[in-house]
Amino acid sequence: MKPLVIHNIHTHIFTIHHVPARFLPFNLVAAFKIQFWNKAIRKILHWLSIFTNNDQFGRIVVMADAAEHEKQEEILVDMMGFYPSQTCFGLLAMDFDYMDAGEPEQDYLKQLQQLAAIKQKYAEQVIPFMAIDPRRPGLLDLAKKYIDLGFGGFKLYPPLGYYPFDERLDEVYALAEAEGLPIITHCSPGGIYWRGKITPELRIHPKTGESLKGRNNFEFARNFSNPANYEYVIEKFPRLKICLAHFGGGEEWDKYLENHWPPAEVKRRLDGKETRLPISWFTTIIEMMETHGNLYADIAYTAHEERFLPLIKVLLNTKLREKILYGSDCYMVQLDKSERAFSINVRGYLGEKDYRQMAETNPRIFLQRDKAASPPP
Ligand SMILES: [Zn+2]
Repeated sequence: MKPLVIHNIHTHIFTIHHVPARFLPFNLVAAFKIQFWNKAIRKILHWLSIFTNNDQFGRIVVMADAAEHEKQEEILVDMMGFYPSQTCFGLLAMDFDYMDAGEPEQDYLKQLQQLAAIKQKYAEQVIPFMAIDPRRPGLLDLAKKYIDLGFGGFKLYPPLGYYPFDERLDEVYALAEAEGLPIITHCSPGGIYWRGKITPELRIHPKTGESLKGRNNFEFARNFSNPANYEYVIEKFPRLKICLAHFGGGEEWDKYLENHWPPAEVKRRLDGKETRLPISWFTTIIEMMETHGNLYADIAYTAHEERFLPLIKVLLNTKLREKILYGSDCYMVQLDKSERAFSINVRGYLGEKDYRQMAETNPRIFLQRDKAASPPP
């Protein structure tokens, strides 16, 4: 049997210099750039992290650790050190320029240029994904430019303040569909979020017309991330390969594991011929993947909770076996465990056969540029 080539399709290597000034609270972005303060604050944060597993707090701590690195390449080299040498990494760019959190020291275009240089140097080991934000002018030309420079697909991050069905993305989707280029999109209720003003117009979902909840920006951003939003994209671009990253996220996996399925409430509504309500994003995603042949999901970050490994194992032995992808969300998992521990936990639990399916066989198909590789669903 050929040696395993792990494909970690979901990693980030942006630095403290790429995030906007108000990305973290208490002016911490500025503080982390000063190594003396960074070291001192990091010590306190790591100590405090023993007492909390709050998602936002965790993000601050990993950002403090990442701030040790001046360049994206340094983070990449660190990450490579945790994996066998032939491993291939999907590097997901992030466009923070429209999240209304101030100016980054190095803007998104700079980040892209640096990633292109990294692709040149580590051609076989990395596949950069270009972040696409519908608010950025000239998006299609930029997309063509970076695909020519070796980028392997596109990254969406809707909680930064847009819907995936935003028509300004259509030209890039059409290009991606025609060229067999995959899309990886953030799909969990948490993560980084848009800081702008929630106007009354924004409170109405542009497609369904329903009024949208969210007491603050963090909660409101969930509306952008909802997996159901991709139905509109798939309807227009059925051959587009989309990976819903994080598989809905741990919070939604817990809801699935802890509740009846289908719950009594849903049954009643079905009897009364009302619309069926999915109980968690996890089940929404499963149903969507069963219906749409080009929809994938990755286990990035979510799988760092060991209690979810049995569910991944079970899924890999259903008809979704070919649709689940390995990703870690480096360096976001590093608060809890190292990249190596993350990977080995998953691999050890699944066994070589299932791990290879998820970390090599499936990603190869997902990443393949062959246009014939994405048949109509
Ligand atoms: Zn990520």
